Amino acid sequence: MEQTNSRTIKINRYYDSLPNMKAKFDRFARKDSFDGSTAAEFEAWRTRARATLSALIGLEKMDSVRLSPVTEEVVMLDNGIVREKIRIQSEQEVWVPMYILIPPVKEGAEQEKRKVFIAPPGHQGAGKYSVAGCGEIPAVADAIKKFNYDYGLQLAKRGFVVICPDCRGFGERRDEKKQGDDEEAFLTSSCFHLAHMAEPLGETVIGMCTWDLMKIADYIETRAEWDSTDISCLGFSGGGMQTLYFAALDERVRNVFISGYMYGFKDSLMILNGNCSCNYVPHLWEHFDMGDIGSMIAPRSLMIQSCRDDHLNGPRGLCNVYEQLAVIRDAYGLYGAEERVVHDVHEGGHCWHDEHLTEILRRFGLEP
Ligand SMILES: [Zn+2]
Repeated sequence: MEQTNSRTIKINRYYDSLPNMKAKFDRFARKDSFDGSTAAEFEAWRTRARATLSALIGLEKMDSVRLSPVTEEVVMLDNGIVREKIRIQSEQEVWVPMYILIPPVKEGAEQEKRKVFIAPPGHQGAGKYSVAGCGEIPAVADAIKKFNYDYGLQLAKRGFVVICPDCRGFGERRDEKKQGDDEEAFLTSSCFHLAHMAEPLGETVIGMCTWDLMKIADYIETRAEWDSTDISCLGFSGGGMQTLYFAALDERVRNVFISGYMYGFKDSLMILNGNCSCNYVPHLWEHFDMGDIGSMIAPRSLMIQSCRDDHLNGPRGLCNVYEQLAVIRDAYGLYGAEERVVHDVHEGGHCWHDEHLTEILRRFGLEP
């Protein structure tokens, strides 16, 4: 027996499970993908697929409650943007705190309803604090620098009203095990703990986040000064994940911006099996791949942003993105709307990029 140190032995060969699981993915996955050829067939498929997806992520178990909005704070930031802090209730005893960034009204646009973005957060940015650009918090300033994370503030500076919520398990919504003010706890999230509470009950983290975003859309409808007929959603990484499911299931989202979250499940969530628990929905892969879910957004305006060296694309890199995009583009093709899908590719690793954002907003006809 070869000894590595005084307390273990060296194992020379491992009998791990991945090869078997990959074979099972090929055998069992994606049995409910679209296999028709017309827009009418696609819409019939989408109705069924949305019902399946809603059940898989546990939407049927969500409580319906009154939003009961509470305004906690209204401040004028140095850049002239008004920041409201409001919380709404999304389920029994579940509250969604959010920063709402409201830039000054452009001259001559006083009578127009304002365009609103929802900007859900990804991991490791303390929830809404990075997205809303709270760079006065040093740990958040570092996260903003690392991932260009303040996309909520970037949109507000372009003139849009932007809602930056804490999603479940992030920021002020961390569950007990991740509460605390030390930097590690502050930046992280309690997705793992949420998933363990939810999944044996038939709920999922994705379902909880999607439901909360639907409630934010309900809230937008209560603000008469905002245009609730043209809601946009933009998220990076875990925020991209939330944007994907929310837009797939809720037609009120008219313009969809998903960054760093479009790739095939097998490479990116099975081979990369150490990803955060919030990504994993029991039984989902049996029914759909990610492109099938993305296709449900057709023919609304959709930007998918990918970085060439993003490790989350999996070992085959952008190939794993292109395969899913092809499924999405096929759906848009049924509507003759291929030009409404923009694939915005950047060099480098996992990061949000706003270099082409103004141009893409214009292409989608989105003026603040
Ligand atoms: Zn997570």
